[in-house]
This record gives sequence, C-alpha cells and structure tokens, in this order.
Amino acid sequence: MKFVFKSFGCQMNKLDTALVTSALTEAGFDLTENVKEANVVLINTCSVRRHAEQRVLSHLGHLKHIKRARPDLVVAVIGCMAQRLGDKLLEHEAVNIVCGPAQIPQIPGLLTGAIEQKKKKLAITGKIRRPTPNAQADALERFESAADSSDKQIPGQAFVRVMRGCDKFCTYCIVPYVRGPEVSRPPEAIISQIKNLANEGIKQVTLLGQAVNSYEYKTGEKTYSLADLLAMVSNVEGIEWVKFVTNYPAEKFLDDILQVMADSPKVCPYLHIPVQSGSDKILRAMNRRYTASEYLGLLDRARDIVPDIAIAGDFIVGFPGETKEDFQATVELLHKAKYRNCFIFKYSPRPGTTADKRLEDNIPADVKQRRNVELLAEQEKISDELSRSFLDKEVTVLVEGPSKKPHLDSADNAGNPQLIGRTATDYIVVFNGPTLLAGDFAKVKITKTSPLTLFGQLI
Ligand code: SF4
Repeated sequence: MKFVFKSFGCQMNKLDTALVTSALTEAGFDLTENVKEANVVLINTCSVRRHAEQRVLSHLGHLKHIKRARPDLVVAVIGCMAQRLGDKLLEHEAVNIVCGPAQIPQIPGLLTGAIEQKKKKLAITGKIRRPTPNAQADALERFESAADSSDKQIPGQAFVRVMRGCDKFCTYCIVPYVRGPEVSRPPEAIISQIKNLANEGIKQVTLLGQAVNSYEYKTGEKTYSLADLLAMVSNVEGIEWVKFVTNYPAEKFLDDILQVMADSPKVCPYLHIPVQSGSDKILRAMNRRYTASEYLGLLDRARDIVPDIAIAGDFIVGFPGETKEDFQATVELLHKAKYRNCFIFKYSPRPGTTADKRLEDNIPADVKQRRNVELLAEQEKISDELSRSFLDKEVTVLVEGPSKKPHLDSADNAGNPQLIGRTATDYIVVFNGPTLLAGDFAKVKITKTSPLTLFGQLI
C-alpha cells in the first residue's frame, strides 16, 4: 500500500506529518510523491488562516474527480481543520477519514479499516477544552516518544514537541479550540527522546510549543520550566544547538530562559516572540496580555542578558478597528524592536473565534494589503542593515543541504553545488560546498548580503 502526504501549516503540523509518516512506514505502508500510484492520500490541514483552509478545499475538489475514476482511493483529512469541521468535512464526496490532532496515533488502524470496510470514519475530540482523557494522553505520549521523529528533510536536525495545546485565547486564534488545553510533556520522556535522536546523529533540536515558554511540568515537589528543560537538553551528549519556538510575550519564566541562553553555548541566541500589534487598544482587543511598552521592555531585557541575541516577531495587520494611528503605532514598534526578521499577516476572521463572533471585519482588503506591504518594506530596511553587519565576518552554520533556489552561480570551480545552512541566530546562509556537508557544521565567510539571506565562501 502506498500513500501520498500533503501537509499545510506550521511546524507543529510538519512534526505531526513526520510522526504519522514514520508510523505508517512502520505499519508497512510506503510513501510516494505520485498520486497516480497511491492507495491513500493524507492531507494534514491548518485552520489558522482562511487561505490555508481554502487550499485544502480546492485540493479535495481535485481529489473528488480522481476518486470518481478510482473509487478505492482512500482520502484522510487530519489536523486542525479536521477537528474544527468534523462531520461536515466527512460529508465531502472525496473524504473517507477525518482525524483530529489528538487522534493521530489511530491513523494506521483507521486507514486499514477504511481500506477493508470502505466506510467513512470520524475520529475527533468531542469536548476539546476538557482535560485529555488519560488513555488518549498516554497514546499520544507513546506515539510521540516511539516514532522516529528525526526530520529526514533536514539532515542533522529534529523537532521535538514539548507541549500541546494553548490556554492563551488570543481572540483571533483558532488553536485553543482545535488543539485543546495546554499539556506539557514529562521532561524525562523529552530527554530520553532527544538522547535517541542524538544517537541517530541529530545535532540540533528545536523544542516546539504554541507558547513554548509556558512549558510547566509538576512532579512531586518539583516544577520544571522551559529554562530547566533547556538546561537539561544542553547536557545531552551529541546535541550541539538547541532552539525553541514560539514564545508568548509574558513575564513568566522569560528571564530564566534568557539566563540559560546566556550561560549555555548550546542554547541558540534566537528568540521568536510575536507582538501582533504596536497599539495597546488593538492588543487589548486581541486579548494579548501586555502593552506595547511592556513588550519592548522584554526585548530590552533580552538584549541586556544576551547581547548577541537575534529577535524575530509576528504582526497581524488589519485587525478589526485598526485605525491609521493604531497602524502607525505598529510601525513605530517595529522600528524600536529592530527584529532580524518578522512575519506579517493580514487579519482574516476564523469561524469559532471570539474576534469572529464579536468584532466586525471592518478593514477593507486594499487597506490590509497596503499596511502589509508598508510594514514589510519597513522591516526589509532593518533586516538589510542587520544583514550588512555580517559582511567579511565568519559565521558557523549547520548545513541543511543543496539550495532549492539558484542564488549564486550554480557550481564553483571544484564543481560544488550551492548549499544552504543556518546560523544559531537563524540566518540563512548560501555558499558552494560538497553535499556531504549536509547535517554537519561549517564555517563560512560572508561576502554578500540581502535582507533575508547571507552569501559566502566555505572556509
Ligand atoms: S498564544 Fe494566542 S496566537 Fe498563539 S496559539 Fe495560543 S491563542 Fe493562538
């Protein structure tokens, strides 16, 4: 039996895709890129933006036609959109299985059942904000720890989930309603998984959580924070770099985390900490529990404790009620924050969220677009200036492999292809070198820069 996997969305989803792929391979299925030879199509979906859901629906429309000619083809929709839409999605002509994020350990069994019995199957959580039942939590933990979660796409690197769900309830966000309450994984399970990864040759792990700095695990008298966990991961032999995403700008634990970053050369000096808006009025409407000046205070402290830190952010433009003045406050915050890069999104209402229920999506599309372009242009100038500071300097990168886009002349005199690597501060570096460097560290002298990419020569 062969399966095709199409994955949308964030790093959490990519990790789920890797875990399910690994479980299916273990169960005797083979991964293919070609729908024509596949018996099963899996789609891992995202509900965070309307556009991501539209892409899934258009993909399902295409599969509906293929299934008319090949009725035995099994289509499984998993992930956040599966949890959000449940049986409505199961009614789609193309769909055989709808499976939420908490039910992914069931996928091999669900697929076998659907292939044999030709029946539609729904596996989602009924009351998503209730604590996860023990049996389900145990199944998820076993699935997570047992699967070989080294991401084969990026040699030498792996992503490890340290917590599931979110309790922050930002008014625009669907995550708390599709991924459920925050649950932190036991530190010993995480460390044992990371030791296994290190034995497989993994050098960098990225710890994942929706608000990863909220990680908190109580056992007996002891409460483990993310700072404790980072210190423990740094002690795993073979692991050289530790990154963690994404952070919520809360006071809680942040100083401790930054102190571990300053003290341990293995904890990379990179902090992704979304702000979303520079206007206190909009932050309140988003239920982000800080003001713009408190957020900037956190960045100042981060730079005091870790002077070489690189900071990245996220913004949403065109949130309901965002006036010209609110947007101006966002532009000003962006200038003060001096991000090394940031991700900018146009607001789109997500059904089921508080913002969708209570606030009118009253910023016209062309205004959202203009604000998006303006903010991007401002950030580009800042990123460009920061990138230029690397000219003629040497950087250490973890090599990911051949670059997909041609950036430089395709090969050097020795016939080496273009490789791509990342610094500890998450800069992308393009240089010529032998492909066998993939998964290893290399030193590169920077000879050219652009706002988001550094170019150089292998030393
Ligand atoms: S912190 Fe806010 S934006 Fe992030 S996942 Fe939780 S609710 Fe969504």
